[in-house]
Amino acid sequence: MRYVKTVCPRDCYDTCSIIVGIDDSGRIVSVMGDSKNPVTQGFICPRGIKDLEWVYVNRVLHVREGDKPSKNFKRVPWSEALDIVAEKLKDVLKEYGPKAVLHLEYAGNMGLLTWYFPQRLWNAIGATKTDYSICSRSGHEAISLYYGLSYGIRPEELLKMRLIAY
Ligand code: SF4
Repeated sequence: MRYVKTVCPRDCYDTCSIIVGIDDSGRIVSVMGDSKNPVTQGFICPRGIKDLEWVYVNRVLHVREGDKPSKNFKRVPWSEALDIVAEKLKDVLKEYGPKAVLHLEYAGNMGLLTWYFPQRLWNAIGATKTDYSICSRSGHEAISLYYGLSYGIRPEELLKMRLIAY
């Protein structure tokens, strides 16, 4: 068992320092906050603690059998699922061109690595892009209409809110 210092790969700005435990087979088996970091001081939130699931569980593991609207799916290894995605991507590029591929970025599960690193691929193939997430721009417009700018609200205004969703 060895421990590696790294940072949480999520999309929030905290970038908490974490330590991952890796067993002898190379599998990550634990995630914990790094108490030695002077800023984040061992903190790790419920999203960060679930990072382990993002590595091993939240993958494309089932593929459709036959064409849509078939609702039959079969379990496949990650390597096979990845090959299928790559083949489909190639097919779309060949038949319709790069404008038919939409790179949807700025999703809630993305940090610096997961956000910026794949952009090299999408830039290389000339994929269509969103303006950050599909809802970010509309949110900024709505806030601007109300406040004049879209810097967000003053923290003290939170106390007057009748609904807070997060
Ligand atoms: S552990 Fe939580 S608060 Fe820290 S960077 Fe990750 S998602 Fe953000």
